Amino acid sequence: MDSSSLPAHSPFLVIGAGPAGLTAAWAACRRGWLPFVLERGRRMGGIARTEEHRGYRFDIGGHRFFTKEPEVESLWKEMLGEQFRTTPRMSRIYYDNKYYSYPLRLPETLGNLGWRRSFAAGMSYVAARLRPARPDVTFEDWVVNRFGQRLYETFFRSYTEKVWGLPCHEIRAEWAAQRIQNLTLGIAVWQALRPAAEAASKTLIREFQYPRLGPGQMWDRFRERITAAGGRVATGWEVVSWRHEHGQVRSVVAAGPTGLREMTVDRVVSTMSLDELVQTAQPAAPAPVRMAAGGLRHRDLLLVGVVLRKPALFADNWIYVHHPGVRVGRIQNFGNWSPDLVPDPGTTSLGMEYFCRRGEDLWEMDEGELGDLASRELEALGLGRREDVLWTVVIRQPKAYPVYDDGYRERLDRIRAWLNGLGNLRPAGRNALHRYNNQDHSMMAGIAAVDRLAGGTADPWEVNLERSYHEDVVVARQEVGQVA
Ligand SMILES: Cc1cc2nc3c(=O)[nH]c(=O)nc-3n(C[C@H](O)[C@H](O)[C@H](O)COP(=O)(O)OP(=O)(O)OC[C@H]3O[C@@H](n4cnc5c(N)ncnc54)[C@H](O)[C@@H]3O)c2cc1C
Repeated sequence: MDSSSLPAHSPFLVIGAGPAGLTAAWAACRRGWLPFVLERGRRMGGIARTEEHRGYRFDIGGHRFFTKEPEVESLWKEMLGEQFRTTPRMSRIYYDNKYYSYPLRLPETLGNLGWRRSFAAGMSYVAARLRPARPDVTFEDWVVNRFGQRLYETFFRSYTEKVWGLPCHEIRAEWAAQRIQNLTLGIAVWQALRPAAEAASKTLIREFQYPRLGPGQMWDRFRERITAAGGRVATGWEVVSWRHEHGQVRSVVAAGPTGLREMTVDRVVSTMSLDELVQTAQPAAPAPVRMAAGGLRHRDLLLVGVVLRKPALFADNWIYVHHPGVRVGRIQNFGNWSPDLVPDPGTTSLGMEYFCRRGEDLWEMDEGELGDLASRELEALGLGRREDVLWTVVIRQPKAYPVYDDGYRERLDRIRAWLNGLGNLRPAGRNALHRYNNQDHSMMAGIAAVDRLAGGTADPWEVNLERSYHEDVVVARQEVGQVA
């Protein structure tokens, strides 16, 4: 429904049609409630949507479907059935003009590094393990304590700073412990140094699941099921304010195709970003809460889609680009995720990921400049030739990553305490909780929010708090107790 009008009242309102919001809406349907979902964009799936240009499908990054949560796993299968496929995984890391296989092959890595650097890294690793230098307060501390100064300098620093745009000593250790997708070479080295860890590791997963037409296919299916069950999803409607009174949300104001509309509500799940939720409250939240919300920071993402007239340019699903000489951070090869994302098998469709911040020079570049930059960098990396580029497209994703900087936890605690005073509102999801969640934990938070609103004891703030896993962080899993 692309509604030109909204009902005056919704007994169960969901803000946002990403994984958290759609799962919350589906969980509401299963309880016999009729959810109403307001989504400001046109597509389902939020950051996990699939964009389409000239018949080519672009994933925003590359969304592996991987979970330890049986409820999520069975939901995914129930929704997509045969369309949900197993995809072989291959990824490499580009660093210092060399490609490193991942998972790491020790002889190749040592060969690439050279014996001097390998030896020095080994010694500094041993020194760090014998005598950790400091408590795990920042990302830098966390890594140096586990990998040694040399490995940190060689494999962690430049890439992490490229991703986050922050010096590593300003990033909190929690981020390293909770989810470090991009430190693969360092972790691979760690695993090579400590092969016993391999067995317990999920890092070496050789395959993952993926919808035939990209992640958006999953979320379109959720919408169909919600609608068939009597719920509604209205796109093009942005929640711009909400009113509360006596500890209850009374109504939500949305801006859409027919202007501003106000809906009274009984219960609300919000998956909009936490800072925006606080800033749009009427009456305004107390000043310290607003200040805390204003201090939450995010990292934005530019995906430059590049279609080249050559088939199968390389075999990886994605390549991490640690090399500081180019600005691209990661390159997705969509045909290797699913051939059905690429309509012409004589072409290759890539997604060049640039991590940046709105207002920064990269973000401000126009489509032509970004297309040029991506084509140049592709050639510089030896992955494709500029003359083979047929066309490029730019997809902008604001607030792709919540930033864990100094003070963010205190800010979150303050906001959470205030929101807990509103009995019929529950935030759920990645930016809604300012947490580095994958789809599965966003979904679990959506389910927990519904349970809580139905009088249960689940709490979306507690989902994924244990920071107990990520497939790329064996160390986090084993040493979580040490994390500050
Ligand atoms: C580059 C990248 C790669 C990733 N790779 C993976 C991966 O491999 N596997 C994985 O599981 N996860 C991955 N993720 C994480 C995944 O994208 C998120 O966990 C997931 O999309 C979060 O879902 P969500 O519903 O919490 O939030 P979002 O996806 O942010 O959805 C929120 C929705 O709310 C809408 N909204 C916001 N404000 C308003 C408003 N005021 N009014 C109305 N609507 C509003 C937005 O438009 C959006 O549709 C990746 C993320 C990134 C950035």
